[in-house]
Amino acid sequence: MMSLTRRHVPVAAAVVPASALSPLGSGPAIAAAPASGTQVPGLYRYKIGAFELTALYDGVWYRPIDEKFIRNADYRDVRRAMADAFMPAEKLSTPFTTLLVNTGSKLVLLDTGTGGQIAATAGTLSANLAAAGVDPKAIDAIVISHFHPDHINGIKDKDNNRVFPNAEIMVPAPEWKFWMDEVNMRAAPATLKGVFLNFRRIFADIANDVTRYDPGVEVASGVTTIPAFGHTPGHTVFAIQSGSESIVVLSDTTQHPALFARHPNWQPQFDIDGAQAVETRKKLLDRVAADRMLVTGNHFPFPACGHIVKTGGGYEHVPMLWEARL
Ligand SMILES: [Zn+2]
Repeated sequence: MMSLTRRHVPVAAAVVPASALSPLGSGPAIAAAPASGTQVPGLYRYKIGAFELTALYDGVWYRPIDEKFIRNADYRDVRRAMADAFMPAEKLSTPFTTLLVNTGSKLVLLDTGTGGQIAATAGTLSANLAAAGVDPKAIDAIVISHFHPDHINGIKDKDNNRVFPNAEIMVPAPEWKFWMDEVNMRAAPATLKGVFLNFRRIFADIANDVTRYDPGVEVASGVTTIPAFGHTPGHTVFAIQSGSESIVVLSDTTQHPALFARHPNWQPQFDIDGAQAVETRKKLLDRVAADRMLVTGNHFPFPACGHIVKTGGGYEHVPMLWEARL
């Protein structure tokens, strides 16, 4: 029997005459359809109890990395793990998905994406929100997990205007304290200075309108915040519960799961406290794996929801099955 290899496939396909593929035999030729040239909207809806959730795709960034990227791993192992995950060499696939929660009484947006201000290949959130039929003016609350630019830049457009003018903006209090601190900014390494400045750019003129919450509190009916510090000093995850169903929004507890769920001990540069981030990651992943809970993460492959299972060396993300019906 012929083995199916990349080399054989086109050859095998080429020897089948087009007419043999048509039920009409040698009848009229199959019309050539014009290529659409564009992607369909990046949306996925699912329900948690009575809540309707919409995953909104904001695009992807192929982030260049080098041997300094993981503080505590051999770069050859990192490159191998990326190849195992079918990522391009030395470019970390970083997809962005934000979550809109309709609780029945409120529209709550968890993080706001890149605002089209990080990479040319990201910034589709607004278009996908429109495709979902949601007016940005209708968003009641924005709940931020942490202050990395890919989570807060979508609060404003490139001209510094608020994108969601009627939304209450809620941010983790310890996150605010850390990034607002001038001493921390002065002490920060050059790579982190830009994040401090970006935070100021977004929040300086709207600071009085921002609500600071203590991670642990409920920020909307059925939406509870959970401290998950390490990635940043105030990094927060969310538990959404309606009736007997729930989901944990892992935020950036594990960035792309093909790297950081599989290698939970790795300490990437973007985890501010690497050791604490590892501890938080393992604690949360252990819990959701043991309880077989539905999870989503900002940098999981779209639509970013699924489950986590524990493996010999780490964890594996199992995507949720796409359902046509809610
Ligand atoms: Zn992120």
